Amino acid sequence: MSVDATLPYDDGNIFARLLRGEIPSRRVYEDDHTIVFHDIAPWAPTHLLAVPRGSYVSWDDFSANAGEAEIVSFTRAIGHAAREAGLVAGGYRLIANTGLDSHQEVPHLHVHILGGRALGPMLV
Ligand code: ADP
Repeated sequence: MSVDATLPYDDGNIFARLLRGEIPSRRVYEDDHTIVFHDIAPWAPTHLLAVPRGSYVSWDDFSANAGEAEIVSFTRAIGHAAREAGLVAGGYRLIANTGLDSHQEVPHLHVHILGGRALGPMLV
């Protein structure tokens, strides 16, 4: 079910629990602001999720309310993880589903990093 990204942050969501170490993840990168780990149900040969440690419901919340250091760090972490995963030569896709119409399911901002094969055109 899609989440309403205008709702207040709920710290019981699955990525909040994952950040607290209450559920496992296959992490490939982490720093003070960001973790990056493998999606549990990949859509592509490489499917990573980049998640800020801060409590942001969605891209809308993050882009409006995160500090500049967090935004810069999160952006660089995504680029770093994609490079480390070997995705630059072939290319890759970033997706941040945001709110009801997007089919966002987890109410903590996450950016999908997808690659490892030709992905084809974006479809709705
Ligand atoms: P949708 O599933 O509709 O794309 P999202 O954009 O909110 O919605 O994506 C949530 C993603 O989180 C999904 O790709 C799902 O496979 C992934 N996911 C859910 N639980 C876990 C988990 N415990 N570890 C890693 N990935 C997870």
